[in-house]
Amino acid sequence: MIQTPYYLIDKAAILRNMHVIERLCDASGAKALLALKCFATWPAFDVMRPHMAGTTSSSLYELRLGREKFGKETHAYSVAWGDDEIDEAVSYADKIIFNTIGQLQRFETQSAGIQRGLRLNPGISTSGFDLADPARKFSRLGEWDAAKIEAVIDRISGFMVHYNCENGDFDLFDRQLADIETRFGHLFEKVQWVSLGGGIHFTGPGYPVDKLAARLKAFAERFGVQVYLEPGEASITKTTTLEVTVLDILDNGKKLAIVDSSVEAHMLDLLIYREPARMETAGPHEYQICGKSCLAGDIYGDFGFPAPLNVGDRISIADAAGYTMVKKNWFNGVKMPSIVVRELDGTERVAREFGFADYEASFG
Ligand SMILES: *Cc1c(COP(=O)(O)O)cnc(C)c1O
Repeated sequence: MIQTPYYLIDKAAILRNMHVIERLCDASGAKALLALKCFATWPAFDVMRPHMAGTTSSSLYELRLGREKFGKETHAYSVAWGDDEIDEAVSYADKIIFNTIGQLQRFETQSAGIQRGLRLNPGISTSGFDLADPARKFSRLGEWDAAKIEAVIDRISGFMVHYNCENGDFDLFDRQLADIETRFGHLFEKVQWVSLGGGIHFTGPGYPVDKLAARLKAFAERFGVQVYLEPGEASITKTTTLEVTVLDILDNGKKLAIVDSSVEAHMLDLLIYREPARMETAGPHEYQICGKSCLAGDIYGDFGFPAPLNVGDRISIADAAGYTMVKKNWFNGVKMPSIVVRELDGTERVAREFGFADYEASFG
């Protein structure tokens, strides 16, 4: 048995998402780029590479990882490039997308040899959280003034518009895209490509993939552009679990089980967005599953189990691929989960283990 804690990535489950992506791209003509900020666990890339067009990034390191570990088409985006980064970024990128006109102008000479794009902020989004809302008040994420953009349009060949967030509602997507077409369509007509970003939950159950494909195709034809999508979560949803072991059981008026992991360190987004973890379990024996850091609120959630839990029992926490491994940290010095890949033939392979040396090296 592999020592817990570990993230267990199921390649067969990734492949199921890849087949949906491929179907969408074939039917629409769109190209799909993996958004590395959501998932950068490159030991799983071999099962994704044949089905996606490449990667997109939010920093120099993501960009380089995409170029070196995924290959294919590599888009470079960053909220702000530094003077010390730009030449290296351009050397890896097929397209570079600037967040502002200011950055586009600042790095005009350095980026002259590759295709350039600009991030467009449409002023609308589907995010319910201010923290993750690119269209929040005074947002720094992209340009929104069509007149200002038009003045520099000869310097770019495309736009990136990222405004969806786990949007599983096709009709909402359709309405918002229509609104964006009305306000920015005259700009789209002047470029060769438009990336509609990530956040469309089209690999979710029951999503009308064919309708989305038709909508994207119509968009591409209307403006004469190559459409890109940048699925992060949709690429890896429901593919990975966090495997943990019960270390202690308490009863403080409520049954608690402490496991060899930490929400704060290993699934931080649950705390940030105040969501309980998900677990495929049910039954009459209720426990609150808690992390082993000393943070009082380090709690995965309350779950029912078919039998009483015992020290040494293994528990599997669902949906541990997106925005988890990219945010894992050394809080409390809790052992970082290993990364395990379940290959297509069912064998489980430890791709990476972390130890004290990694912890120590993160400080000096
Ligand atoms: C976060 C992000 C994505 C991926 O979003 P998902 O919700 O994970 O699909 C894609 N593009 C950009 C620009 C992003 O910031």
